[in-house]
Order: sequence, then structure tokens, then C-alpha cells
Amino acid sequence: RAQRVLPGGVNSPVRAFKAVGGHPVFIREARGPYLYGADGAEYVDYVGSWGPMILGHAEPAVIQSIARTAALGTSYGAPTEGEVKFAETLIDAVPSMEMVRCVSSGTEAVMGALRVARGFTGRDLIVKMEGGFHGGADYLLVKAGSGLATLGVPDSAGIPLDVAKVTLTMPYNDLAAATTLFQEHGPRIAAIIVEPVAGNMGCVPPEPGYLEGLKTIAQQHGALLVFDEVMTGFRVAYGGAQARFGVTPDITTLAKVIGGGMPLGAYGARREIMSKIAPVGPVYQAGTLSGNPVAVQAGLTTLEKLRRPGVYEQLEQAGARLEKAFEEGAKKYDVALTVQRVGSMLTPFFTGGPVRSWDEASRCDTAAFGRFHQALIAQQIYWPPSQFEAGFISTTHDEVTFQRLERALDSAFKNV
Ligand code: PLP
Repeated sequence: RAQRVLPGGVNSPVRAFKAVGGHPVFIREARGPYLYGADGAEYVDYVGSWGPMILGHAEPAVIQSIARTAALGTSYGAPTEGEVKFAETLIDAVPSMEMVRCVSSGTEAVMGALRVARGFTGRDLIVKMEGGFHGGADYLLVKAGSGLATLGVPDSAGIPLDVAKVTLTMPYNDLAAATTLFQEHGPRIAAIIVEPVAGNMGCVPPEPGYLEGLKTIAQQHGALLVFDEVMTGFRVAYGGAQARFGVTPDITTLAKVIGGGMPLGAYGARREIMSKIAPVGPVYQAGTLSGNPVAVQAGLTTLEKLRRPGVYEQLEQAGARLEKAFEEGAKKYDVALTVQRVGSMLTPFFTGGPVRSWDEASRCDTAAFGRFHQALIAQQIYWPPSQFEAGFISTTHDEVTFQRLERALDSAFKNV
């Protein structure tokens, strides 16, 4: 039925994978670390809605704040105090932000951020990484990761050549390539956009000095550095990857975790840059549902919970436990596996060597990953259905969920 009315039966391509019965698991409800399929089966969830559910599903305080706020009306198209408090909370946490604009998704946050980068610098070109994914804007679906990498179509159809031409690409973790690119195009480049921990080619951490190097190169050429922290923001540390690694970009984009599972994104920067945005400045960007009151309250409650002492330490320990489970499982059956993790995001790459770039990620044994994934799903472990994605854990993952994973890993690696 779904395939008759929705392309591929889904509303976002990465959801379309063949699980038990040859179709994705349709979800009825979710609680804590568990998803419940339409047939009632219970899955341990390591996808977390692709990142947002850091507190687990249906977290009671988040749900209460959504219900309480929704009862007061779901959208006003006018400013609220909640938005101001939300912006203040982000600014307190994220080193690069002095002002914020709220939007409704990561895609929109990135589009706004890059428009203001162009408006601020008066330049047109954007540099992105091969295997980097920044949402659905035309000029960013060039050598893109995530679902495009999975489907083997890194450049989307439907994008005019002239639009694709404003985007230059370079390999992640390669400062020499960045230097060369800037030598050639420097005066025309408005911004570099980078996931400070790449997540959409699988989890690929920055090599020591890489983010600092990008910042220096951008500065030398009068370009801006944009950290796309849609995935890493409040995931790898309370203030995002920039807090974890101590490198401050010019502009930051956020979504996923900051909305507590509701549609919410944001971008921010220092005052000088944000003052270019309408109605103060000439860079136009707008949205009917931007800063939606229900989404903002879900976000505020989520961030309040994340700010408590010990939360990220707990996530770090849980991440280490997960990493060990994958490594030991693979070792037992002699499977060539490289596990890469930053905090509570992790990818098991089916390859012997480290993965530092899209080029290295693309050499993984995706057929082995496919068999592995089928085995996990059959044992009711809901893991991302692609070699080029990261798995996520929440504060609700506990001994029971890890033991279930370990048992499933044992038979998955045995039969891979
Ligand atoms: N940027 C990054 C790094 C992402 O991982 C994603 C989505 O996965 C996006 C942008 C797009 O965000 P959204 O799906 O909320 O539009």
C-alpha cells in the first residue's frame, strides 16, 4: 500500500530497506530505547530517528512540555518568550554563537547559514567535503554522503549544471587538498562547510589539527568556516563538536537534538555576521513555522536535561561499551572491522584499515555490511541500514539493551 502512494513507500530515502518480509519495519510507537513495529515486535533502537532522540523516545518531561505548550496553541506566526530563552540557551552553550535564527530543519539551517556567508563575504563559491551531507539544497547534493552514498548516486538528478558549479568539493581530513583548492579559487570562495565529525559517510573523526587547519586556510583567504553541527550539536558534547575539540567556526548550524524530536533547526554566528539577516540586514530568510512554540519547548526541555552533570560522561561510557561489543564480536569470528566512534555516535566499517575520508569509506565491504544488517534486524536490533551512517545511543540504553545487542552481534558476525 505504501509503495502505491509514496515513492519507495517512504518519505525519506534512507528509511527504505528490506527487513523481515522484504520491507522496512513500520513503526507503531516508541519508548526509551525501544521501537515497536506495527506487528507489535520490540526492537532495540540504535538509529534514534537518525540522531535527535538522545534522551530516548517519549521522554516524559519532553512529552509533557509538548502537551502543555500545544494546549496553548500550536503556531502563532509571532514572536514568543520561549524563542528568546531557546536562543539564549544555545548561545550560552555553543562557543561560536552570539545570535541565532531558528528554522524548522537542518536543511533550512544550512541554506540560511550559507546564504548569510555569501551575503557577508560578497562571494559565491561554497566548498564541501566528498561524502559530506548537509540536507537537500540543490547546490549541496554534489558528491554527497548519507542516502546518496548508499544508493550510489552522489550527485542528484534535477540539479542545473550552473547551480552545481557553485560548489567545489575536496576530501575530508586532507589539508593539502584544501590548500591547493584555495590557491586556485580562494578569492571567490565564500565558505567551507564541514561536519566537524563526519557522520554521513559513517562516523569519521577529524584528524588532529584538521579543523584548526581549515580555520586557518579560510581566514587566510577571507572565507568563512561553517560547522554543520546538525548531527554533532549537543550529541558529541553539550556545546557540540566545537566545544569538544576547542575549534570555533564562524557560523554553526544545528537541528536534530536541539528539537527533541520535533521539527526545529537553527543557525548562529557572531553578531557582525547575523546582523546581515533580514529584517536587520539585506540577507533574506524567513519561515512560517520558524521557532514554532511547541518545537522550541521540546528543545528547551531536552537541553535542560542534557545540561545536568554526568549526562555526557554516561553517554561516553555507553559508547565505549558499544565500541567494545563490536570489536570483540568481530575479533571472535575474524571479521575485518574498524570501529570509529565519537561519544555516542559510532560506525562499524567493514574494512581492515582506518577510515579517514569518503574514498576510504567507499572501499568497505558493503555486501558484508548488508548481510550483517539483515542478521541484526532479524534479531530485533534496529541499526542504520547503511555502511555510510552512524548508529546512535541514548541515555536510556542500559545493561539490558547492550546485552541484547551483544547476543545479536555474536550471531551476526558468525554468519557475515
Ligand atoms: N546536515 C547534516 C550534517 C545532517 O546529518 C543532516 C541530516 O541528516 C542535515 C544537515 C539535514 O537535516 P534535516 O534532515 O533536518 O533537513
